[in-house]
Amino acid sequence: MDCIFCDIVAGKVRAEVLHRDEQVVVIRDINPQAPVHLLTIPTEHLGTIQEIDAGNAPLVGHMTVVANEMARKEGLSEKGYRLVINCGNEGGQTVGHLHMHVLGGRQLLGQMG
Ligand code: 5GP
Ligand code: ZN
Repeated sequence: MDCIFCDIVAGKVRAEVLHRDEQVVVIRDINPQAPVHLLTIPTEHLGTIQEIDAGNAPLVGHMTVVANEMARKEGLSEKGYRLVINCGNEGGQTVGHLHMHVLGGRQLLGQMG
């Protein structure tokens, strides 16, 4: 299966890796939409957030904990930031491997797309 994020997790494609543990890798987005734009990517391939059920829901909790830690390290805690998970075509998902965006460092608009 061809998956750019699996290749990044495996080290086959270069990315600026800011954090790695057994469950997630955090990288900088290649096309940042804000001064800070990170991606929290599960090391296991899951296509979308729809593949989260009662059995693997703790993964999303861990993604959130790590995203918050990274936001703090990037100096976003005080001013705030946005965590986003896009799902599917109309949800704006372009890479078919679950990921959580961490966006901050500028005033983000209130609109949801
Ligand atoms: P989505 O639209 O699926 O929610 O977000 C996918 C994100 O992955 C986009 O913001 C895009 O810029 C980023 N992205 C796509 N390919 C690469 C890549 O090869 N390296 C990095 N660092 N980011 C990528
Ligand atoms: Zn993948």
